Amino acid sequence: MLSKELYICRVCGLQQDDLPWGENGYTPSFNICDCCGTEFGYHDATIQAIKKSRERWLNQGAKWFEPKSKPKNWVWEEQLRQIAAPFQ
Ligand SMILES: [Zn+2]
Repeated sequence: MLSKELYICRVCGLQQDDLPWGENGYTPSFNICDCCGTEFGYHDATIQAIKKSRERWLNQGAKWFEPKSKPKNWVWEEQLRQIAAPFQ
């Protein structure tokens, strides 16, 4: 994985301020994604869990967990493209 990909939420693609899974990609922070509400290390622990969480989030209208953090002109399709290939 590219180093910038380590900052990306595996469920929704939002770039995080802190590494969701640590520098090595294996040490979850248990922080919550502002966008999809994923708890890193819990909702995104396996590929299946990632896909299930993403599906649930999209089915519920791709709503922001922290609406205040939502950028203007935000497009969820563009954000999803940030997700590293192994987690798509
Ligand atoms: Zn997310």
